[in-house]
Amino acid sequence: MIISGNCKNEKNKMLKKLTDTNNNKLKQIKSKFSKTIRFDEIHTNEKQLNLDRMMQLVNKDVKNIKNKNKRLTKCPICKNSNLIFFVKKFEFKMDKCQSCGLIFCNPYPSKKQIYYYYNSEMKKFENDFFIKSFENRLNIFYPRIEIIKKYRESGKILDIGSSIGVFLEALNRVEHNFRLTCCDIDKDSCDKLKNRYPKVEVINSDFINIEKKPNYDIITMWDTVEHIVDQNLLFDSVKQMLKKDGLFFFSTPNTDSFEWMIANTEHVQLLPPGHVNLLNIKSISTLLKNNGFSLKNHFTLNPSLDIDYVLKLKSKEKKSNVRQESYLLSLLSNNKFRADFESILKKHKKAGNILVIAQKN
Ligand SMILES: [Zn+2]
Repeated sequence: MIISGNCKNEKNKMLKKLTDTNNNKLKQIKSKFSKTIRFDEIHTNEKQLNLDRMMQLVNKDVKNIKNKNKRLTKCPICKNSNLIFFVKKFEFKMDKCQSCGLIFCNPYPSKKQIYYYYNSEMKKFENDFFIKSFENRLNIFYPRIEIIKKYRESGKILDIGSSIGVFLEALNRVEHNFRLTCCDIDKDSCDKLKNRYPKVEVINSDFINIEKKPNYDIITMWDTVEHIVDQNLLFDSVKQMLKKDGLFFFSTPNTDSFEWMIANTEHVQLLPPGHVNLLNIKSISTLLKNNGFSLKNHFTLNPSLDIDYVLKLKSKEKKSNVRQESYLLSLLSNNKFRADFESILKKHKKAGNILVIAQKN
């Protein structure tokens, strides 16, 4: 084919435009999936200032509600009886299993206490800061979606604990071939989701009341597992709702991490009766094994949050009384050291939030 000079120019221009557009698209996608997330972006200032006060206020009333649950003498996950007192937080005692490392409310709060908590001002407070940090929180979900896509290209997903729908919105903003059903116990959150996304199926229910049939290829639970008292019941229910070889993706605080090693009993995520079970990869592996799952993989994706949180926590203290800790903190204020340290935490899976991929056996 003979192309005249003019045509050649036009063609080159078009090709360049196309390449530029593709490059820009690629850049946008890359920045979406590799963005460093900072603590202040996802935890509003208002939340950081008022969380403790709100928790104390609500738990004053929770304390007065009857709790007939007995203190457990064995770890609910690994059944070991070597439990030690960990911390008393907002009127709840928490123990730590010396074998699998699970930190849990002992005794667990009663159903009435939990109901009161989730229908108190705390829920509104929580939803408010979720709404205010909604756009920034999307950045946590893009890499999670990329990981899901590596395991499955299409299928039916059930998202348990959808809340205000950050996962749903993130999924809407990328290309995908999944069909999503959202589920949440909170009626108000479900009503809002139905209004905002009329085409999406929304189930307003406790996970325990969803039909126990193998209807889904994938079940997701984002930062929800730690809120559930009976972990075995949860994992068993999820298994029953998954199709053969179905996948369970969930994220939860990781107590075997840098930020937990430093913050320990002062960690901001010790939030009973909201957070009642705080896990790590050892307790998670036991849970999966005991409930018919195999662990496919796990990641800790956002080490920057660990470092921001630790620096924030330590800046409140007048002076660190441990020399090694002071030294580490001074090193972390060097950006190059910090970047290298973040890669190490990510590589060795020691950041404070863990993403687990499990498959039904
Ligand atoms: Zn245990």
